[in-house]
Amino acid sequence: MSEGKADKMDLKERALQASRERYEKLEIEKLKAADQFAQKAIKEFRGVFGDVEELSVKELSRVECEIIADGLKFRARKESSEYYIYIKFYLHVRCRKCGKWFTHPVQNLADVGDLLSHPPVCEDCQMLAKYGTTEVKSEAERVMEMLREIIEIVSD
Ligand SMILES: [Zn+2]
Repeated sequence: MSEGKADKMDLKERALQASRERYEKLEIEKLKAADQFAQKAIKEFRGVFGDVEELSVKELSRVECEIIADGLKFRARKESSEYYIYIKFYLHVRCRKCGKWFTHPVQNLADVGDLLSHPPVCEDCQMLAKYGTTEVKSEAERVMEMLREIIEIVSD
């Protein structure tokens, strides 16, 4: 009886150990994949934006990393279309309306230059701008309603 119990314990312990080992192996593979992606992204980055003096990379996952080049912060992300896999770059930019940081896709140096000389507006502010126009419309509708009421009163 006690022997059987010990065997069970062993199996349980071995199972837990196997689970831990598999988890550790997966974690190591994840780190390796993240490192491989970061190296690929740096190579691609230099190919697209040219060489930079100061470049640092922060690995995030096997499909994403952060690149800081000459003081500009970029995000590189692995994307895939139906036929091929590629790396897409995003520049961290500050919304010119609310000052919030967000990422904006960039394909080449000129795109980066555009964003630097004309800071874009974030999605929230774009939505707000849209809301603004609908607000104006509803206000116009309210004025029309008031006018209609006045006309009704006058004609009565
Ligand atoms: Zn904004």
